[in-house]
Amino acid sequence: MSSFNLLELICLLLPIAALSGWYLGKRSQKIGLLSKQGHLSSDYYVGLNFLLNEQTDKAVDAFIRMLDVSPDSVETTVALGNFFRRRGEVDRAIRIHQSLISKPSLTPKQRSQSLLALAQDYIRSGMYDRAELLLLEITNIDGVQLEMSLRLLIDIYEREKDWEKAIQFSVRLQEVTKQSMSKEIAQYYCENAENAWSKGKIKLAFKYLKQGLQQDRHCTRISFLEGNFEKKLGKYQNALQAYKRIEFQDLAFLPEALNLIIECYEQLEQHQALEEYLDYLLHHCPSISIVLAHAEKVKEKQGKGTAAQFLADYMYRHPSVRGLKHLIEFHLSRAAGEIRDDLLMLKSLIEQLVEKKAVYRCSHCGFASRLMHWQCPSCRQWGTVKPIQGVEGE
Ligand SMILES: [Zn+2]
Repeated sequence: MSSFNLLELICLLLPIAALSGWYLGKRSQKIGLLSKQGHLSSDYYVGLNFLLNEQTDKAVDAFIRMLDVSPDSVETTVALGNFFRRRGEVDRAIRIHQSLISKPSLTPKQRSQSLLALAQDYIRSGMYDRAELLLLEITNIDGVQLEMSLRLLIDIYEREKDWEKAIQFSVRLQEVTKQSMSKEIAQYYCENAENAWSKGKIKLAFKYLKQGLQQDRHCTRISFLEGNFEKKLGKYQNALQAYKRIEFQDLAFLPEALNLIIECYEQLEQHQALEEYLDYLLHHCPSISIVLAHAEKVKEKQGKGTAAQFLADYMYRHPSVRGLKHLIEFHLSRAAGEIRDDLLMLKSLIEQLVEKKAVYRCSHCGFASRLMHWQCPSCRQWGTVKPIQGVEGE
């Protein structure tokens, strides 16, 4: 055991020592933690001695024995188990907490506290079914552990992809904390919608999206899903409407939707409307994706030279690696010989530069990825992963 952990453990066990004085003053010596002479139970010293000698299992046995004679040491025993769990010694934590909940003398508060600790042990060792049963019992006790239990239950349902239950318990958590869970609930509806769609239940998928939007009007994922579903059904006008909503929900996601929007306009053969829309975006919310889409239109109408000039003008004001790559591509088609070879080399270098760069980052924990995640795989927050802005991103 490292000295740091030992120190932590001694601090943990100090309350037992402090309690002894309190007991002497306030209570008779029949309380089991103290012997008849007013000293700490001998099991306390035995346990501590085993810990100091790194004989942890024997120490755990001694502390569990101590519990038999001292029901008032419940809190410290819970903390001792938690200490082992934090050290990754989950089996020991489970032994300690299991021995606790087997005591019939626990008060309801002590029982829910012990159940919660044991549930956390089970979660740590991946035994979600067992944890769920204990947490559900706590939610029926309705005590101080209720909020934490609901949070852990929601976490379990998320891991098990039981979105209906995740919604149900998020609603209950909202009632307990008076804090909105709408953002999370909307995401659960999105998960439900994707599942329904994959099973061919089209009406149900749209119903879930509608319910999600009622929870969170700013959920861009709903607009992406709605657009994708409509597009697959060949309803490009509806899809376009859904995708264009993203601009007003979260501008950071608009570049992600841009190609989808362009595809819809082209399928609808509304070329003039597309140009007007790109023009509008260019003036209201320019980003490199929008500028590149606009540059493509300039290229079609006025040739590569004008398109390259347009792009270069923008790049002077807003340098961008992606923009630079496109600029080289515009020049490549007009270059020959050595210049062309040099440009090809530059293009290849830039491609290598951006190849492994993260495209998305979580605003909550900083997790970076090349893939989009609606739930951050690192901190498990919903809707915090967004496209990276700046020279290497948008
Ligand atoms: Zn995160």
